[in-house]
Amino acid sequence: MSYIAEIIGVGTELLLGNIVNTDARDVSQALSRLGINVYFHTVVGDNPERLKQAVAVARERADIIITTGGLGPTYDDLTKQTLAEAFGKKLLFDEAEAEKIRGFFRDRLGRLEITENNFRQAMLPEGCVVFDNGCGTAPGCAFEADGKHVLMLPGPPRECRAMIESGMLPYLKKLAGDEIFSHNIHVFGLGESAVEARLHELMETSSNPTLAPYAKDYETMLRVTARAGSQRAADELMRPVLERVTAALGDLVYGVDTDSLENTVITLLRERGHTLAAAESCTGGLLAKRLTDIPGASRVFLGGVTAYTNEAKTKLAGVPRETVEAYGAVSRETAEALAQGVREKLGASLGIGITGVAGPGDDEFGNPEGRIFITLASGDALVTRSLDLYYDRERIRLAAASHALDMARRYLTGAPL
Ligand code: ATP
Ligand code: MG
Repeated sequence: MSYIAEIIGVGTELLLGNIVNTDARDVSQALSRLGINVYFHTVVGDNPERLKQAVAVARERADIIITTGGLGPTYDDLTKQTLAEAFGKKLLFDEAEAEKIRGFFRDRLGRLEITENNFRQAMLPEGCVVFDNGCGTAPGCAFEADGKHVLMLPGPPRECRAMIESGMLPYLKKLAGDEIFSHNIHVFGLGESAVEARLHELMETSSNPTLAPYAKDYETMLRVTARAGSQRAADELMRPVLERVTAALGDLVYGVDTDSLENTVITLLRERGHTLAAAESCTGGLLAKRLTDIPGASRVFLGGVTAYTNEAKTKLAGVPRETVEAYGAVSRETAEALAQGVREKLGASLGIGITGVAGPGDDEFGNPEGRIFITLASGDALVTRSLDLYYDRERIRLAAASHALDMARRYLTGAPL
């Protein structure tokens, strides 16, 4: 059966905008792994009356109510009392919990005297399942009443995240049975609609796993999602679909469950023993930025220059003045000279040169906005990709850097450039 959950964040500081409700995000993400639908996120202040109202609404429209916050020892932490009362449960003193609190103060804080209010945390709804708090003192808990499941998690994000894994997920897994597992297939060079056209039948006919495309930052991602009892069983279900997708898209797929194109390129450079240098004009260092976002990039990305003006192209990237003068800054010849120049200057095995018109508007030599030349130089071999991109300035630059990464990726894997 499929369950509906509602998350109630308790805390006046959330309403005031002092903090962001990251607990709701973390709980929601975990619930989606179980295939439990979340229809509402509610936030209420540290006020028992209004919390009661929120619970009254939630129990009408959800099977599972999950609260975050308000489990601590202070007077404004009212979640347990309020929820127990709402569901007609008594709060009982739990000696085992009290002992854990004494232990925490003694061993973790080196303190022997404990104020009485700390023991409020040892008061728990009768018959509940206790969720240990691995990183604090306030335990969480869960109980079933009136056909509903009520779960209470602590507010501090670190404690909440830990308890989602150790308490909430095991508890709900028993209810939900199966879990949701997925793989992401990363595609470059084919838009979302074209990908969908190629895989339309597979998408329509697959139900477990499902297959869905997402467009992101000039790339396309396909997510394969299966519902199963374990990762292994899910992988069994997903394997044939993964195989059919990779067969249909071939080398347009640059990775499965990888982080990004730049990550893929850095890994490939390392594996294949190559080094890279870049001379960028219209991307203004974006390619270098994306490559250096990856920790450890310095072992394979030697560096680059932003050669924006003609003078910079000549002085910094070794582009012959005659080349720029004869063919213009935005030309195949200049892109080639940028790639070869920076490769030689830095002694890299691969060089990339990017030049183009990011816009808005055409350049003074009649090159249209969005015209880009990207060259990959390896030894004496030069390969150039010329593009006409119909986007705005920001997306043109992003796409140009992505195409450069794609060229490096293709060269390093032996795919056609
Ligand atoms: P404690 O034992 O620390 O009092 P608690 O369970 O009573 O924990 P709160 O007192 O409600 O939780 O919140 C403690 C802190 O946790 C807040 O000051 C806030 O920084 C953070 N916090 C609470 N709720 C959330 C939330 N929904 N998302 C992100 N952070 C939160
Ligand atoms: Mg508190």
